Amino acid sequence: MNFPSRWLVSGLELWRWYCQTKAYALMAGISVAEVDLFLKEFADLDRLTLRLESFKDWPNISMGLSLVELDILWHRRLEDRVPLQYLTGVAYWRNFSLKVDSGVLIPRPETECLIDMVVVTTNSISDLGQGIWVDLGTGSGVIACGLADVLTEASIYAVDYSPLALAIARQNAVKLGLAHRINFYEGSWWQPLEHLRGQISGMVANPPYIPSSIISTLQPEVRDHEPRLALDGGVDGLDCIRFLIETAPLYMVSGGIWLVEMMAGQGEEVAKMLYGHGSYCQVEIFPDLEGVDRFAMAYLK
Ligand code: GLN
Repeated sequence: MNFPSRWLVSGLELWRWYCQTKAYALMAGISVAEVDLFLKEFADLDRLTLRLESFKDWPNISMGLSLVELDILWHRRLEDRVPLQYLTGVAYWRNFSLKVDSGVLIPRPETECLIDMVVVTTNSISDLGQGIWVDLGTGSGVIACGLADVLTEASIYAVDYSPLALAIARQNAVKLGLAHRINFYEGSWWQPLEHLRGQISGMVANPPYIPSSIISTLQPEVRDHEPRLALDGGVDGLDCIRFLIETAPLYMVSGGIWLVEMMAGQGEEVAKMLYGHGSYCQVEIFPDLEGVDRFAMAYLK
């Protein structure tokens, strides 16, 4: 995090806090790697320094907040189960460092695969990469930024229903130097993109896909802190995916790519819906890095 370093703490003091906090984290079932990330953001200590604990002997370490404030913040992680990324305000995703707050879903590592899938597909069908690509429900803007990063000749559009999310997405695009590549629109799915009817080459989305009844069983970090709007996919979790299957043919070019993230176990039903609709071909379900079916891709006929 970049803020003026104003507080000095002795290495020994911080080391004691570090050891104690790691022990409490372990007991609370929180990965000790999170403590490292916490100190990386607030005390600018890298992983090797933390691993070797060499900072213990440093006379002073400058931090952006006092040790007491640091401890209070960590207690929000421990007791309120606030996700680490909301406390530090930073999430790492692909080669990006992104700003996040509780108005946006924290980008997940598995979502990174969407961008790789786009790269592979546009490498084999190069025309597609020069067309119009949309990220519907952009949240923090990760997918739109990822698309802008790899599709250097495409026009990118990012849409979100939440003005708070869109503000974060815009800030991330500016931070990553990609703002000039992305057109941001506030609205529901395709609604602000009427003027692009029939012209879109690629649709990528990580829509809400968790069945409503499951939300209360999720880990408290997700259930109590991440935006429900970004998670809740209705009774079977497929409301938004179903809607995107029904509506995309109105907006997309023939040969265009329809690509979404979904939940484990939804692949068969999503493939069935895509084939059943009649406007799609070459439907494929792809696993994430853990081998779980996570993505559905199809071409517009
Ligand atoms: N991947 C998120 C989770 O595990 C859900 C995101 C979504 O619904 N799109 O909670």
